[in-house]
Amino acid sequence: MMSSVRKVGVADMTTMSEIDEIEINQNLNIRYCSDIIYTYTGSILIALNPYKTINIYSKEHVSEYHRCKLGDLSPHVFALAEAAYTSIVEDNLNQACVISGESGAGKTETTKFILQYLCTITSNVSSWVQQQILEANTILEAFGNAKTIRNDNSSRFGKFMQVCFDDHNCIKGCVIQDYLLEQSRITYQSEGERNYHIMYQLVAQGQENTDVAKAFYLKPPEFYKYLNTTSTEQINMALESKKFDAVTMAFTVLQVPQFVIDGVFKVLSSILWLGNIDFMDIDGEGCDFSNSDQEAISNISSLLGLKRCDLQNVLLIRQINVRGNITEIPLKIKEAVENRHAMAKALYSKTFTWLVTKINNCTNPGKGGAKFLGVLDIFGFENFSQNSFEQLCINYTNEKLHKFFNHYVFALEQSIYDQEDIIFNHVEFTDNSQCLEIIEKPPRCVFKLLTEQCHMPKGSDSAYLNNMHSEFEFHPNYIKGSDRRHWETEFGIKHYAGSVIYTVDGFVKKNRDVQQDVLFDYMSFSEDIFVKDLSKFQDPQFVNSNYPRGSSKSKCTVSDNFRSQLQSLIDVLQHTKTWYVRCIKPNLLKRPNNYNNSLVLDQLKYLGVVDIIRIRREGFPIHLSHEDFINKYKCLMQNKSFEYSHKYITDIMETTYLTNTEWQIGKTKIFLRSVIYELLEDKRKEKI
Ligand code: ADP
Ligand code: MG
Repeated sequence: MMSSVRKVGVADMTTMSEIDEIEINQNLNIRYCSDIIYTYTGSILIALNPYKTINIYSKEHVSEYHRCKLGDLSPHVFALAEAAYTSIVEDNLNQACVISGESGAGKTETTKFILQYLCTITSNVSSWVQQQILEANTILEAFGNAKTIRNDNSSRFGKFMQVCFDDHNCIKGCVIQDYLLEQSRITYQSEGERNYHIMYQLVAQGQENTDVAKAFYLKPPEFYKYLNTTSTEQINMALESKKFDAVTMAFTVLQVPQFVIDGVFKVLSSILWLGNIDFMDIDGEGCDFSNSDQEAISNISSLLGLKRCDLQNVLLIRQINVRGNITEIPLKIKEAVENRHAMAKALYSKTFTWLVTKINNCTNPGKGGAKFLGVLDIFGFENFSQNSFEQLCINYTNEKLHKFFNHYVFALEQSIYDQEDIIFNHVEFTDNSQCLEIIEKPPRCVFKLLTEQCHMPKGSDSAYLNNMHSEFEFHPNYIKGSDRRHWETEFGIKHYAGSVIYTVDGFVKKNRDVQQDVLFDYMSFSEDIFVKDLSKFQDPQFVNSNYPRGSSKSKCTVSDNFRSQLQSLIDVLQHTKTWYVRCIKPNLLKRPNNYNNSLVLDQLKYLGVVDIIRIRREGFPIHLSHEDFINKYKCLMQNKSFEYSHKYITDIMETTYLTNTEWQIGKTKIFLRSVIYELLEDKRKEKI
């Protein structure tokens, strides 16, 4: 391993003599200053975002790390990918890389490096399927990423990408699972943020009066209310246009026919036009379009292939189904405005899930139990000045993953030591089971109470909050609000990474799966084949045939669906060999060469890095049964006939001249620290 002589800090922090937070922070800082962004803690990789190009990802670097053991070369995400790949080949086990960190810490870039590595080592020539996997990312980024204050290319959805391997350990396909695309961004963006990249890329086509501009009714970006053009930053049309071409190219690689590509862009354009409709109040009873809206209405109906009168109906009228009798009620202006936003969101998110499904159909590895390496790139813990339902789901995800991490790294390890009567100082760790219970454990929990409200016709945020307060007032993880004045609008949860106050406004609405059934019904008669197809498309994982469409009682809420998605993810992870990458953001300015000590320290704490280091150092990473141990190492004891005894085991250990702090004999297993294990292995290899 790299020595500290070269003033590059310690490459594996489990080998440090001082292991407090300050030492760890200092070590990372020293390395960062020499542009060494990767550091191990055992087999867990810590990655600092350099915010600049560092030349360590070339083809040559890939070859350098290929067939090298973790720890032989300086720490690198390639080394981790190599170790996971080796374990697929040698142990025949499925693998998962869990990548965590806050927004802008480098999770998505890390994911791409892992994919790049796998694609490069598994074949000399870039094969079709590898190309498709990489291009799938181009599409997902265009449709699922946006500029935020924290990250210019922020993923607004979570994803678990399973790269599948055939019997020769070559890539044979890929399956993507997406989680919770942020919908609010489609109709509204905060200061300094943007809509999804693809919107600007599309609109950039309208700059010249081209055929494309005419076909999609494109206008300059300032024209659209859904595109935040108030921010001072100019939109670089040439660059957006280039990216648009890359997306079109990616579609082609994924074998999406031209008429479908056009269909997708028509839907996007119609969403933008929807945002521009101005409703006019009629006597406080109903509403109508203003005169200037005629262009919008006619463009949308043409883009979606809908009859103009049908479109007007869905925009101005609500249909209520009372025991089979359809009643039409005009929408009040406020309702119409909201309903239009809901339509835009529904269209976009349906298109997004359709895209993911399309990509999966294309890169599907086919039947047969393929081995896989999954990469989880999912939103980190969030605590903003205002937190809503989205943050609750995100923080819930992090609680789930944290528990999984604890369970595998700490709890399992410690219970083994207990069973085996091994002397070992217990490491304290933040057990978050109680926090998870208040959020998800039936019958009464944060999500259940919310779903209950959503199933009531008059369910409301305030009723939800009241129920929560009375149910959980004395729960150790519950807070009634930031202070007494906010008890009627807020509740708080003490998460493992800190307390978060949630503003209850909008919870019920966001959790209700506001289906735009009427819109999609009309769309099913569209003249456009893609639009027609899209209207009938159902996310394959949520097709629940037990319930008739539209019955509100039975409908799954957003949190119900998300909870079951997350549980399946954990179930998959449980059957994999798991690897962790902890991504850290050195500063909030998105700048290179800028290390903010206290910012890093916060992240080290809630990423559990300090705990990891303690347990790895104090624990015994290698476990072998007595029998396996003796059979494996009896070759080191040439002159003695072997026997299954403690004495014999001790004799083997003594050939290393290491003290017995490096190993222990448990009831059924031998426990070794890495040092002695490596020595024994070297000696054994000499003998055979
Ligand atoms: P996250 O997915 O965690 O929100 P990203 O992976 O999108 O963060 O990274 C944010 C930005 O930081 C990237 O767009 C890129 O500019 C920069 N970045 C992250 N990791 C690296 C890296 N290893 N090398 C160079 N730049 C990086
Ligand atoms: Mg990301």
